Amino acid sequence: MLIVGAGVSGLGAACHLRRDHPGRRIAILEARDTLGGTWDLFRYPGVRADTDMHTFGYAFAPWRARPGSPTARRSSLSAFPGGDLFAAVSRGTASVRTDTVATFTEDGLLLASGERLAADIIVTATGLNVEALGDVRVTVDDTPVNLADTVVYKGLLLSGVPNLAYLVGYTHASWTLRIGLAGEYLSRLLTHMDAHGHTTARPEVGDPPLATRRWPPAAGHPPLPGPGRRLPDAGYARATPPGRPRPVANIHRLSR
Ligand SMILES: Cc1cc2nc3c(=O)[nH]c(=O)nc-3n(C[C@H](O)[C@H](O)[C@H](O)COP(=O)(O)OP(=O)(O)OC[C@H]3O[C@@H](n4cnc5c(N)ncnc54)[C@H](O)[C@@H]3O)c2cc1C
Repeated sequence: MLIVGAGVSGLGAACHLRRDHPGRRIAILEARDTLGGTWDLFRYPGVRADTDMHTFGYAFAPWRARPGSPTARRSSLSAFPGGDLFAAVSRGTASVRTDTVATFTEDGLLLASGERLAADIIVTATGLNVEALGDVRVTVDDTPVNLADTVVYKGLLLSGVPNLAYLVGYTHASWTLRIGLAGEYLSRLLTHMDAHGHTTARPEVGDPPLATRRWPPAAGHPPLPGPGRRLPDAGYARATPPGRPRPVANIHRLSR
């Protein structure tokens, strides 16, 4: 088994799979020369988790955080202490431009309109440009897979793509809660495959096909860009009109 990425997700998945399938060989590929991903990369002063540390972890190695300790407290970034931003807008000492950034310049920004904005500090708050699978290009039998044409099964397998799991954690709760569930599911799937002699697991969209919506649903996040997007869809059974036959859920195709 190959795991790409030695962040919290890859290491967590490796632990789950190693625990339940000690006989299988696992290799972890990591682009950096160290482990830990995000939590190793970000080292700016004050960097910390904003979910509770009690749930950030895996069931096989629970934290022993003391209640009330700094690691158990939450923080919030989306606040303006003292309302100073609103006061500046009211005083007229803050201004807003609606334009498109053409490029950074030596002393600020050049806008598409040709206007130049001088700035000592530029804060980019332009949201996420989500790149699924870390921009890995997937092919099946030499045919490129367009992720936007796939439907995700249980949030981690892709329709038509055999033996590939795509681990994304929760964004509105501790990331690891979902990675833990994914690791356990993968372990169960492997156990089932071993028991029945299967070497391939590939989800397929049923007939009639599922109603789908973009994935991840990302509660509270703006919709991800449409054309050119490279993210899979998710089945959305609740979209079935009442009285119509319920679409068959994605079914695993397991083969030897
Ligand atoms: C500032 C910040 C604060 C956060 N706070 C929280 C929080 O409070 N609670 C929470 O639950 N989550 C938080 N998160 C989310 C965080 O991303 C997850 O907690 C978790 O660390 C993600 O782990 P990961 O292994 O999925 O990804 P990463 O940590 O990004 O690890 C991915 C690894 O894969 C490697 N990689 C990528 N592509 C390739 C490739 N093609 N080949 C080989 N290696 C590759 C990368 O080098 C990296 O090491 C925060 C994230 C950030 C940036």
